[in-house]
Amino acid sequence: MSTPTRITHWIDGKAFGGTSERAADVFNPATGQVTGRVDLADDATVDLAVAAAASAAESWAHSSLSTRTKILFKFRELLNERKDEVGAAITAEHGKVLSDAVGEVTRGLEVVEFACGIPHLLKGGFSENVSTRVDVYSIRQALGVVAVISPFNFPAMVPLWFVPVTIAAGNAVVLKPSEKDPSASLLMAQLWAEAGLPNGVFSVVQGDKVAVDRLLEHPDVAAVSFVGSTPIARYVYEKGTAAGKRVQALGGAKNHMVVLPDADLDLAADAAVNAGFGSAGERCMAISALVAVGDVADPLVAKIRERMATLRTGDGTRGCDMGPLVTGAHRDKVASYLDAGVEAGAELVVDGRDGEFDGDDGGFWLAPTLFDKVDPSMSIYTDEIFGPVLSVVRVDTYDQALELVNANPYGNGTAIFTNDGGAARRYQNEVQVGMVGINVPIPVPMSYYSFGGWKNSLFGDTHAHGIEGVHFFTRGKVVTSRWLDPSHGGLNLGFPQNA
Ligand code: NAD
Repeated sequence: MSTPTRITHWIDGKAFGGTSERAADVFNPATGQVTGRVDLADDATVDLAVAAAASAAESWAHSSLSTRTKILFKFRELLNERKDEVGAAITAEHGKVLSDAVGEVTRGLEVVEFACGIPHLLKGGFSENVSTRVDVYSIRQALGVVAVISPFNFPAMVPLWFVPVTIAAGNAVVLKPSEKDPSASLLMAQLWAEAGLPNGVFSVVQGDKVAVDRLLEHPDVAAVSFVGSTPIARYVYEKGTAAGKRVQALGGAKNHMVVLPDADLDLAADAAVNAGFGSAGERCMAISALVAVGDVADPLVAKIRERMATLRTGDGTRGCDMGPLVTGAHRDKVASYLDAGVEAGAELVVDGRDGEFDGDDGGFWLAPTLFDKVDPSMSIYTDEIFGPVLSVVRVDTYDQALELVNANPYGNGTAIFTNDGGAARRYQNEVQVGMVGINVPIPVPMSYYSFGGWKNSLFGDTHAHGIEGVHFFTRGKVVTSRWLDPSHGGLNLGFPQNA
């Protein structure tokens, strides 16, 4: 077994060993081996990163839009050229299959491309002659230092939802990636440096709760973009806003796919398998609850089962469909839901513990699992399992399906499968969920729209990327100006009125 690689921070334009003694193991989930030891920042290391960011932010905010876009275009080219390398680093630490890992970088690249349009996105409004010779115009200005705190499941794409937009808007960023798969963030830091980004505008602090807490209380951090589980998202939102910061905190999910009796069942079965088991179910837009309406359940479950039998679970570098879970502890937690579901009376149609694996015996394996006849009171329905476990809930009518989805405390994504345009339109209007797919699973919005859920899936008012992202990372200012006109002068202590 080779010695684990040390994974450090990136502060002020270079790798930084840090001041803390603490470190955590990083695994290759396909072998179970410890491949890295990631430094865990203490307060002093976070303070160094924030200080470097604060000093860089001032001149970066004054840089010209063309300076910023040149660097963004360059970063886009470099990341595109090296997306296979970033993808390989993700597969090695997260476990998702290589094509999926490269796919997440590609989706992240779309946000970089969106951010390249920042000159247009920052344009303000202008009203001439709102009063005699008085003009009013609006501008948007950078906030200063922004912290981005990201989850394990998209180590490249989630940081890329925020980082290019906030940098384009003139801010400096401190990224705190997940300690489970920290290497992709360092590769991206190198690419920003190669693209010519000034030192300190992008830093990476590796760490855990200690680093997060310091970022949340640090007086020089103006805003926080967080993505992770709901309890931590709520905590980050409450602590960050109490410290006077602007916070957007995206949380967990329990995404429902509703299948109406008139749906194309082959399309629906393909979608359920792809969205349920892609990335081993470790996606915040994964489908985990399949709501079968009327008499579709029996044929739909049969079709899903057929497709599941063809899936290959194994090492992400071997062309398999699905990789391992991220850690042994997470695999055990997900597997414990299989017992819980059986005990609660659900029908275990396919048991992932019986699956075969194309990989090392030490890997964190669990093959796709299917439950039928799941009751909404069961923990396999109420909890976000975040693994390859799909639960079928049977209901009689559209109204019951809608009621079930809307009663759920999460509201991240949902999909409806039907050939009835009227029913689909009703669903899109009535469902209390932030992102809706019509005959489309995993309806992740394009970069020029904004990504975000409702209810317990997002704390804050602003979604990620798109125009909402630009607004989150900038402050509006409105200027009212009059150039000297002696005829309009004179004393008047009344409230300004237009004439
Ligand atoms: P997590 O909440 O455990 O961790 C997220 C981040 O918070 C990490 O950087 C972690 O180091 C930090 N953190 C963990 N515990 C903390 C604590 N007690 N105090 C302060 N910081 C802490 O989430 P995860 O397991 O890395 O990611 C999976 C979760 O993220 C799932 O719930 C998934 O639904 C969610 N997610 C949501 C979205 C979305 O867009 N809504 C996208 C991706 C993932």
